[in-house]
Amino acid sequence: MKAEERIIQLREMIREHDYRYYVLGEPIISDYEYDQLMKELIELERQRPELITPDSPTQRVGGEPTEEFPTVTHPTPMLSLDNTYSEDELRDFDRRVRTFLGGEEFRYVAELKIDGVAISLIYRDNILVQGATRGDGFHGDEITQNLRTIRSIPLRLKEEVTDCEVRGEAYLTIKEFERINREREQRGEKLFANPRNAAAGSLKLQDPRLVSERRLSFLAYWLNLSAGVIKTHGEALDLLSRLGFVVPPHRKGCQSIEEVLDFCREWEEKREELPYEIDGVVVKVDSFDQQGRLGTTAKNPRWAIAYKFAASQATTVLRDIALQVGRTGAVTPVAVLDPVRLAGSTISRATLHNEDEIRRKDIRIGDTVILEKGGDVIPKVVGVVREKRSPDSVPYVFPDRCPVCGSPLHREAGEVAVRCENLRCPAQLRRRIQHFASRRAMDIEGLGEAIVDQLVDEGLVKDYADLYYLKAEDLIPLERMAEKSATNLITAIQNSKKAPLDRLIFAIGIRHVGTNVARVLAREFRSMDRLSRASLEELESIEEIGPTIAASVVRFFAEEENRRVIEKLRRAGLRFALEEEEFKPAGPSPFEGKTVVLTGSLSRYTRDEAGELIRRLGGKVTSSVSKKTDLVIVGESPGSKYEKALQLGLATATEEEFIKMLREVGVEA
Ligand SMILES: [Zn+2]
Repeated sequence: MKAEERIIQLREMIREHDYRYYVLGEPIISDYEYDQLMKELIELERQRPELITPDSPTQRVGGEPTEEFPTVTHPTPMLSLDNTYSEDELRDFDRRVRTFLGGEEFRYVAELKIDGVAISLIYRDNILVQGATRGDGFHGDEITQNLRTIRSIPLRLKEEVTDCEVRGEAYLTIKEFERINREREQRGEKLFANPRNAAAGSLKLQDPRLVSERRLSFLAYWLNLSAGVIKTHGEALDLLSRLGFVVPPHRKGCQSIEEVLDFCREWEEKREELPYEIDGVVVKVDSFDQQGRLGTTAKNPRWAIAYKFAASQATTVLRDIALQVGRTGAVTPVAVLDPVRLAGSTISRATLHNEDEIRRKDIRIGDTVILEKGGDVIPKVVGVVREKRSPDSVPYVFPDRCPVCGSPLHREAGEVAVRCENLRCPAQLRRRIQHFASRRAMDIEGLGEAIVDQLVDEGLVKDYADLYYLKAEDLIPLERMAEKSATNLITAIQNSKKAPLDRLIFAIGIRHVGTNVARVLAREFRSMDRLSRASLEELESIEEIGPTIAASVVRFFAEEENRRVIEKLRRAGLRFALEEEEFKPAGPSPFEGKTVVLTGSLSRYTRDEAGELIRRLGGKVTSSVSKKTDLVIVGESPGSKYEKALQLGLATATEEEFIKMLREVGVEA
């Protein structure tokens, strides 16, 4: 068989298996067999790149990260639905429709309302050409590459309908949502409050590969064909299924609002059985003709409404308030509860958010509390049953010491979170070390998460300074650590001592001090010693440093434990001062006094590195293009900044030209 034919055959097979797996949920081959087909296709397409088409299953994850999403105008506005929260309100809606249609017969379609992100997909000649978010209803972000990664969105429709627009909801199943939050917790990142937030956040990611890892799903509930052959919403749902989409569970042909209410009650009971979160039922008049006559108000269609389910509540006794220290040092109060059933699961812990929340609701240990589980998967305490409070109960006093390490807790002005800022706090140690070793910090290659875990678990490292005192023989007994890799890691650690001062300032993990602020601090103070002695006034007098950062720096160096760790770093021989001679351009800098903007991705440098070079050569890097911009450096797939630069007639340089400029002053090898 010729490669062309085999490629077409493989694509059809993979498409069919995707459909069976992601849409029907009935796979007929194993993951292994599937992977083999995909591998073969990737290999053939690698040999014959001219045969790659946008609807090939290999194109789901591809494309480069985008800097900003282009705005698109929706063919027709994506209106939001009016909400109702009671059966009576739903009956009112029915009366309005009935009156408007003047006794004409009509039907409703009721379908589950998935808690996700509304999306529009445009197909031309059956192939997905554009996907966009709802945005403000009229204009949305074009996120086609991100949407391609969703396996339940067909890249090619299963039936010929030529051009159409499909709308629906991109969402995360509860299982994937929990997986993502678990992974975020391990990395010390902020958790998503609910699957909807997680889905929305995922679609905003600029790297399609990262979006792909989120494993989003899609449900379709609206179809507009360029050549109209369907007359009702029910027919549209059937056709969407045939085109290869999953449609939400629904009931067609409801003759009365009571029938619709039956459907609502049934699913309000059964919602826990679904693999995804629903927040209600959407009720639509079935006939497109009648929909058209009902029309829309300024904001909502008159022919549809969303019936929202009530949040589930339960009461139980709060036995204790436990404090959890996250990997970033944030301390979260958690209610320890007598186990109670709530919306299908047993709850024994619930978040109390923060000190203010506890005080505002006057939650006390021993209280009977009201728990609620609404759109958020995480149950929360919404109030106290005062009548059941014991007469000898006392208001809760928030501890002022870290429950893990005993250090004093800090609360910044204007913030609700309370934090432990001790560098050696065991609860934060893993994350501190990972940050210290990360690429933009000390850049210690080979010090991955698994090794950090082992170093901490074995007690080999109690703060990041201990890294520099490790010897290869300490590492060899660790799991999966050969002599060679142990030596390599020690070498990498020792080499990192040469990192410049600003990277070290970033690495030590002062709250609010990111790479840019670290650079400013290095430039202004020129040594770790001077920085550690800096007063609030001195820090605040620097243009780029606000009161929050200044206070954070002072507090960091005031902590005795922290000063001890920094001392250990000095003894290990890290660079504590700016070394001017390491960066002497061989000639007048082409960037001196210039305002430079970077757009698109460069292949030789990260954006940060390129920016750092320009700054060191006396230039200023800004993020937006204006008339004041002197030069725009344009990498791969530049965004609108490039267009704006052209419009303004600004000087631009390609990456090659940029490297050439660096070479001329001897900065680039
Ligand atoms: Zn602590």
